[in-house]
Parts: sequence; structure tokens; C-alpha cells
Amino acid sequence: MTSLIEIYRRFPTKEAAVAHLEKVRWPNGPHCPKCGADTVARKVEPNQADRLQCWSCERSFSATVDTIFHNSHIDLQKWFLLIALMLNAKKGLSSMQAARDIEVQQKTTWSMMHRIRGAMKDDGRLLSGLVEMDEAYVGGKPRKKNRRDDDTPSPRGRGTSKTPIVGAVERGGRVKAKMVGHDEMTSDDMEAMTREMIDCRVSTVRRPTSTRWIWTR
Ligand SMILES: [Zn+2]
Repeated sequence: MTSLIEIYRRFPTKEAAVAHLEKVRWPNGPHCPKCGADTVARKVEPNQADRLQCWSCERSFSATVDTIFHNSHIDLQKWFLLIALMLNAKKGLSSMQAARDIEVQQKTTWSMMHRIRGAMKDDGRLLSGLVEMDEAYVGGKPRKKNRRDDDTPSPRGRGTSKTPIVGAVERGGRVKAKMVGHDEMTSDDMEAMTREMIDCRVSTVRRPTSTRWIWTR
């Protein structure tokens, strides 16, 4: 689970939060959402640091376009905090409580939570078509900075103390992910998880970490 302190550390300013969203949306640099051009410049006016300008079609846009954060007057930092609060709240989170935590009016907080829930909702349909499935390891302690005292490299992949997450992405963008225990990574478990997330009657499942294509019918 991501702690609130960690969110603060990672996104100490509005600019840091915007930079993160840009990196996630456009790993190879910003693209114009309208015409697709990558000839994009950042606006220089004060308070316009998140606005980008397309040289090709001359539209201006920001990384929030087509996301749940679009047209919101609430800072991205507060959005990220609210998402963390919601993910961490095991017994649910009231908009009253959340409003106090992020210092935003309750009505606004309620509609933010509504948008976030909508974006996180699993529509219950299994993924199908071409689906890529992989495991990732998140969280845990940072790696040692000085390795000279300790030649054993930190374990990566299976064998780390980090939390394994198995995710599947359908071509077109739908995603399912599941947090799993370290003792739930056998091939039987993986097969069960595949069937839980993917409609295997009509799908081709590919695991990017292996060169093998797994055909399941
Ligand atoms: Zn453009």
C-alpha cells in the first residue's frame, strides 16, 4: 500500500504531479491528443506550466486531457492523495472524512470519489482477444545504495520481499490486476488467475517475459 507520506515525497509540488502524469501518458514525450504530432512545446507563461502547445495544429492541451482529472480545479496532488486514501481504506472511506483529509469541500470530494470509482471499476467482463499477461513486484524497501559492503545483489523478480502483482492487458487498453501472495505463484496458480481474468475460449495469451506464446482454447 502506498502511504500518504510517500505520495507527499513523490509529488512535493503540483509540477511534480503533472510531470508524473505526463511520463505515464507519454513515455516517449508528449503527443498532441488532437492531431498526434510530437512537435509540442511547453507554454512559458506563469501558472501555465502544465499547458502544452502543438506546433502542428496549434491547439493547447495538458496531460489531464481525456483523464478523470480533466477540467478539475483541484490540484493533481490532491487527486493522487485521494486515490491513495481510497485504496488504503479497507472499510471504505466517507466523503466527509476524505474532504477533511484533503481540505476540499465535501460536495467536490464526493464527485472526485465518484470519478475515481468509475475509473477503477471492473466491469466484470473477462478480457479477450490478444492479451498480455505479466507479473510485477512493487513496494518493499529501497535497494542498498552502497553495495561494496555487501556483494549479494538484492533479489529481483521471484524471491524479493516485494508484493507480486499479476496484471493482464487487453489490446485496446482494458486491464485487470491482482495482488497475490508469494506462495501463490505456482504454475497452477498462474493458470487459475489467467482463467479468472481472461476469456480463454477466445483469447491468445502472451507473457512478455517469455518468448513462448501460450495458446489457450
Ligand atoms: Zn496538434
